[in-house]
Amino acid sequence: MTAGILALQGAFAEHGKALDQLGISHFEIRKPADLEFNPPIDALILPGGESTVMGKLLRESGLSDLILNKLRAGMPAFGTCAGLILLAKEVENSEGGAVSAGALGTMDIRVRRNAYGRQLGSFHTEEGFLGIGKVPMTFIRAPYIEKAYEDVEILARVNGKIVAARQKNQLACAFHPELTKDLRVHRYFFENCL
Ligand code: GLN
Repeated sequence: MTAGILALQGAFAEHGKALDQLGISHFEIRKPADLEFNPPIDALILPGGESTVMGKLLRESGLSDLILNKLRAGMPAFGTCAGLILLAKEVENSEGGAVSAGALGTMDIRVRRNAYGRQLGSFHTEEGFLGIGKVPMTFIRAPYIEKAYEDVEILARVNGKIVAARQKNQLACAFHPELTKDLRVHRYFFENCL
């Protein structure tokens, strides 16, 4: 089992540490050659960061199409925060308004970016995650999932807003499990989505 971690920008190193603790081998992906000249990956992690920057770098690096082909062929993926935004089919900015497609757009969800406003830019809480129980959740200028379309299973909510969901072998969280010591959400992904 080998996972690839998209390492164009953002909190990719923290996911690497979580995977180390779970004993899952992994390498970082920055350019097409990283995917072409390494052993095939069984899963892809899309970290938090800035989704617009990551989207641009995905296109410019030529990784976009390669990754899309793999996702469409059923490769498991786990996106956190900005990673969730990349996976969303529909993305709205904080004020609502125009809907655009996430840079990869393979998950049937509508996401609102920077959804908690300035006051609540960053916060920490603990809520139930279906199949796991209460987990610590760290939000940093986070999105939430405004709509989960057919086939999407809702896994967690905070104040009524959807913050984790799964569609077949794609898992997306608005919070950052890689920034807490709790490894259960990562473990959930590898045990349930592969
Ligand atoms: N606000 C960021 C975005 O819109 C996401 C924040 C994060 O990944 N912590 O892309």
